[in-house]
Amino acid sequence: SLDQLREARRDTPFDTPRYGIYGTSTTFELQRAMAELCGTESCIATGSGLTAIAATLSAHAEPGGRVLIQGDVYEPARVFAERELRDGVDLRFFETVDELDALATADTNLVFIEVPTSLTMRIIDVGRVVAIARRVGAPVACDSTWGTPRFFDAHALGVDISIHAATKYIAGHSDVMLGLTTGTYEALAPTREWCVRYGSTAAPDVCWLGLRGLRTLSVRLERHQASALKVARWLEQQPQVVRVLYPALPSDPDHESWKAQFSGAPGLFTIELRPCDEAAYARFIESLELFGLGASWGGFESLVLPALPHARRGLRPQPDWGRLVRFHVGLEDPDDLIGDLASALEGV
Ligand SMILES: *Cc1c(COP(=O)(O)O)cnc(C)c1O
Repeated sequence: SLDQLREARRDTPFDTPRYGIYGTSTTFELQRAMAELCGTESCIATGSGLTAIAATLSAHAEPGGRVLIQGDVYEPARVFAERELRDGVDLRFFETVDELDALATADTNLVFIEVPTSLTMRIIDVGRVVAIARRVGAPVACDSTWGTPRFFDAHALGVDISIHAATKYIAGHSDVMLGLTTGTYEALAPTREWCVRYGSTAAPDVCWLGLRGLRTLSVRLERHQASALKVARWLEQQPQVVRVLYPALPSDPDHESWKAQFSGAPGLFTIELRPCDEAAYARFIESLELFGLGASWGGFESLVLPALPHARRGLRPQPDWGRLVRFHVGLEDPDDLIGDLASALEGV
């Protein structure tokens, strides 16, 4: 009846079917499951992880206010901020907690971090970031994609808005684009309004694949972790490898920070090769037979990609990175992967 329609409009439209932009019953099911898994009240499903980031940044950035972003975040997130938050937004980048502390002023509208940072895999002290943001009354948004809700409890560490590219481990098969943002109703209110205004919603069949992925997330991650550790330990002993940037390894500079804030590590890490010419670098990557060339990590398959250190906007001298290579260790037999890496390394 019309009365029921009017009643439904007065209610929050985000948990009862009303119009597709607000979600369907499948969307609500996924959002409820994800919020529960993340130990919080609510979740917003968007068409990609990048949309979730763009929505969070746009919804909080205000002319005259500051947005503080960690330097080495997922590059498209930084590009979005630099290109789209221009008008009067005081955008600043930081690399360390001390730099954040110096930049956090009362006009700060948002602090955005990623743990660990893409490619460089650095793990910031989230508790200290949260304390600084609280001091200036700004919410903290965190890209939590790497850890997933299984290995990283962002809200327990004080993060207000936690963003997951569910495209990666949650969907788990490299065949879905999906973003999931979690937090309290209040913390997510600006982002939710932005998503409705811009029509950024996830399609229900994609949400269904997200729900299906959640059911096996835990067992898949255990396997990714065990295999990645085995492969990473082997790699760090090879003479052609300078270092392996994988926080689960005791040799990683952020190992202690990882132990304090994570309960596990998935299959994604970066290695630095000894200096070699371009041809040897390409030969190494191309001669791998069990690692596909690709960017959408988090699926069942192993992937490799040349990794270029981000442009660091001159914050500090560039570390003299050698040849970086990013690996995603999939669900294959880790001994097969090691065999494949051993023959490819012979050419370096
Ligand atoms: C892939 C990725 C994203 C973006 O997710 P999409 O769904 O591909 O848009 C965001 N953050 C991190 C850390 C990622 O790896």
